[in-house]
Amino acid sequence: MQEASIKNRSLEYLSGLTETQLISLVTKLQWPSFKAQQIHSWIYKKCISSIDEMTDLSVKDRDFLNKNYKLSPLELTQKQISEDKTIKYLWKLNGGNQVESVRMFLEDHDSYSACISSQVGCAVGCPFCATGKIGFKRNLKAAEIVDQILGIQKDTKERISNVVFMGQGEPLLNYDEVLTAMNLIKDSVGIGARHITLSTSGIVPNIKKLADEKLQITLAISLHAPDQRTREILVPISKKYPISELMESLHYYYEKTKRRITIEYVMLDGINDQIEKAKELSDLIKGLHCHINLIPYNPIEHSEIKGQRSEIRIQDSHLPSPISDLCLKRPPRKRIYNFKDVLEKRSGKKVTVRKERGVDIAAACGQLANIFNKNLEKGQE
Ligand code: SF4
Repeated sequence: MQEASIKNRSLEYLSGLTETQLISLVTKLQWPSFKAQQIHSWIYKKCISSIDEMTDLSVKDRDFLNKNYKLSPLELTQKQISEDKTIKYLWKLNGGNQVESVRMFLEDHDSYSACISSQVGCAVGCPFCATGKIGFKRNLKAAEIVDQILGIQKDTKERISNVVFMGQGEPLLNYDEVLTAMNLIKDSVGIGARHITLSTSGIVPNIKKLADEKLQITLAISLHAPDQRTREILVPISKKYPISELMESLHYYYEKTKRRITIEYVMLDGINDQIEKAKELSDLIKGLHCHINLIPYNPIEHSEIKGQRSEIRIQDSHLPSPISDLCLKRPPRKRIYNFKDVLEKRSGKKVTVRKERGVDIAAACGQLANIFNKNLEKGQE
């Protein structure tokens, strides 16, 4: 294909193309193949903001690219910086929807981690999650997923070392695009698979499919309850994929990858924080190579609207008593650490309590800010 005949093609964004796809592109344009490496480096290593910055391409080449391609599918519309330097980004997508990403500083590793989104909204509907409340809108394309990392690096001029798929959406319900994005993150952005974590609510068939890919990523499971009844309330997809099947898929994942699994457990006062639950959890994960991350619940509803934090009340009448009448709130610190001690002693596994980040901007991964809903609605007007 020559330059003149490429004008009506549908491909719009350079960001999100692999090196192989770029080679194929320049070949079609009858450009020398080294230009593919140059473009690849500008996009993924130098994190440029415009095609005009590709200064080792001729003005004619840049003009051509400018006329036929856009660099990035995301537009930064809002940025908030927390007192602890956590940064929350709001990105506008083609079509008006908006998604968020968060950059956090990892003191232990002296490096930065990006928490990224894989869908607009989410169909799973966990009652403690702001994203779940807006329902599913659409899947993100691989380019839109990867561009969150590039956009953060572009903005901060600092490299991201770790990526966690814990933002908006259930990544395993957008399997193909997420897999493509993980390969791009690994091969093009240059973040090793061992520094990528995918967090899922437990989509059993796709956990097994992912296991068969034998990637060296970390799999994190949002378990949140050791028993079926409580889990069905906290993670409704559990009705479709019961705990027994989920555990079987986790053992399968470990067998295939030999990667230790992370069990995530959001601590909710009076719902899943009892010592009995710690014992049940310990029994459930027996024989599984895993570590457990306890996440003290971070109330976020209305936090930005009223300028103060408050709690979410579950009002859905279909939820069984006593949960329907309870406020979701964080357990007292002492109870969290009692739970941790019992779980640690009984299971013999490593148990950590997640450190809160970005509280003042409601930026904790997996519970991205409620203000997103308002911005999403604005974006769709
Ligand atoms: S916690 Fe995750 S899976 Fe559950 S509704 Fe929120 S984004 Fe979806």
